[in-house]
Amino acid sequence: MTEPDRTRWSLATRTVHHPPAEAASPPVATPLYQTATFRADQAATVARYAGEVQPQAFYTRWGNPTVEVFEKTVADLEGGEGCLAFASGMAAVSTTLLGLLGPGDHVVAGQSLYTATTKLLAHDLPAIGVTADFVDATDAGAFARAARPQTRMFYLETPSNPTLALTDVAAVCAIARERGVTVVVDNTFASPVNQRPIELGADVVLHSATKYLAGHSDVVAGCVVARRELVEKLWHKRTLLGGSLDPFAAWLALRGLKTLALRVEAQNRGAMALAQFLEKHPKVARVFYPGLASHPQHALARRQMHGFGGMLSFEVRGGREAGARLVESTRLAVLAVSLGGVETLVEHPASMSHAPLSDEQLHRAGIPPGLVRLSVGIEAVEDLVADFAEALARL
Ligand code: PLP
Repeated sequence: MTEPDRTRWSLATRTVHHPPAEAASPPVATPLYQTATFRADQAATVARYAGEVQPQAFYTRWGNPTVEVFEKTVADLEGGEGCLAFASGMAAVSTTLLGLLGPGDHVVAGQSLYTATTKLLAHDLPAIGVTADFVDATDAGAFARAARPQTRMFYLETPSNPTLALTDVAAVCAIARERGVTVVVDNTFASPVNQRPIELGADVVLHSATKYLAGHSDVVAGCVVARRELVEKLWHKRTLLGGSLDPFAAWLALRGLKTLALRVEAQNRGAMALAQFLEKHPKVARVFYPGLASHPQHALARRQMHGFGGMLSFEVRGGREAGARLVESTRLAVLAVSLGGVETLVEHPASMSHAPLSDEQLHRAGIPPGLVRLSVGIEAVEDLVADFAEALARL
């Protein structure tokens, strides 16, 4: 491309058209390509890209160099061939479901998925002829029993929200392989530091990158990792549905990713220490943490996870009221939804995320009314233990 002679232009024109950025040596940090569109060398290039060949640099809804660095890094961390980044975890979930399923298809899904994912599967997808059955995902055989000839997808989250129940990913994938069913795993709670479902046989791994991947509670993002042919299919759907990730959000997420291993290792340590403290506390009826020997699937956790994670829940004695009081009496742990950030967050499912459910419905979902969920941050463990010791003493 020939550079124009800027000296011929008026000041107004020169304020708009800048010389291109050039670095004599490659930058250490990934540059932020905060641009909606890219210069084309000739009209024919645009015609080729508009004809839906995945381009290098064309229009940011199609793809963007900063976003692609994030995608390549996450694909590598999860052990997949490719990755697509999205404007939120739900954009990743909805594009995956709409991209891989069509009228007449059937899904078998775990019964304690993220609420919005359950709503999509149970209420929105039937409108386009996709049906779903929800099973107890702690029992891999339940996926086989619920499968039909029309089943195209098994969808699961492990560890699950909010009781940290696990699904045996390798066992579910073996059942899927016999039937030619695609396995999708939402790996948000574990992060690729602690669990890599593709190594266990999964076809698609997705994340709310808002959580551990970005890690600082300042970005909303999502991503999907899969083999090349599925990524290509989903790329087409992403350009149509429009849930592509903004470059600045990708840049922030990339900055977050640099410390993923350090953060998650600190969060694993903090969660284990808190779980051990809470398990001995007289006001705590039960602790739900895959790293504790008392977790009913501790052996599975040891087999399929590389670390037990920063998420834990515990049942405070005194039911719904005690749980609600506890989350309002911590001084360090922040009362907020979301998870996976550097700050410890606390929530009470019965009065927050699962508020519409009665005690009876909560019981059926296996959620005690006094359950408190923690996303452990990277603060000093002794400060976190002291915060919960004091909050429990105030009850
Ligand atoms: N999946 C899981 C397990 C989640 O916890 C969430 C959000 O909390 C999502 C998906 C949706 O992600 P987002 O809020 O980034 O759209």
